[in-house]
Amino acid sequence: MITKTHAIALRIDPFSRTSHVVSWLCPDKGRMTTLIKGAQRPRSAFLGQYDLFYTCELVYYPGVRTSLGILKECTALRPRPELRENWKACVAASYFSDLLHRLTPAGVANGSLYRFAGRMLDFLAQEGGNANALHWAELKLLELVGVGPSLTACVGCGSREFPTAQVAAFSIPRGGLLCQSCRNQSEGALVPIQHDTLAMMRGWQETPTPMIAKRTACTPAQRKIMDKLLGGFLAYHLESSRAREIAMEMLQG
Ligand SMILES: [Zn+2]
Repeated sequence: MITKTHAIALRIDPFSRTSHVVSWLCPDKGRMTTLIKGAQRPRSAFLGQYDLFYTCELVYYPGVRTSLGILKECTALRPRPELRENWKACVAASYFSDLLHRLTPAGVANGSLYRFAGRMLDFLAQEGGNANALHWAELKLLELVGVGPSLTACVGCGSREFPTAQVAAFSIPRGGLLCQSCRNQSEGALVPIQHDTLAMMRGWQETPTPMIAKRTACTPAQRKIMDKLLGGFLAYHLESSRAREIAMEMLQG
């Protein structure tokens, strides 16, 4: 049955000389892929109607025997041209789209995640690429897919007592802080986290937009801890990709 939806283009792969396979994020289907037949032909009705980071209106036939749908019509709703003109914004949006592609399951509706993705791409288009804003987005995205890191309570016993005289510790496999006594019984990688960095990340978890994160002047030490914690946690949950490393290097350099 022919279906209509809104969708954000996360990834475009060539399929044949003139066709594309596009991975989309939709509010009602999560991640889905469609074939665009003849997309590259000179008179194709699809020309200029979709590209990476666009939000589009799609009319498509869902796949019957496979998960691959066939796109019938596509109209660009928000092309976000700034993401192709500003290289830092482009680097950040590319990493963010790659992360969405790898973190979101196919076929699972998540309207909040879809709205978050659109707002974050709008932010990057208006404000440009920024490493802090991406760290903020990583925190929010992990939360939206149900694996948000626990930065206020111990994941072992629930204690909220983290004396400032001691460096706190984040367990990568358990996805949160461990208090001193739980730490002694725990296995797996621990990332030491200083209290100033912890307070900053807790603050970012509470803020609804990346603006505060973007305006925070991090010290090199804070940045290093945050990068190690979020990078380690994402690598634990996802298949390895160098996209993160490359984007962070380019935006911090
Ligand atoms: Zn504990």
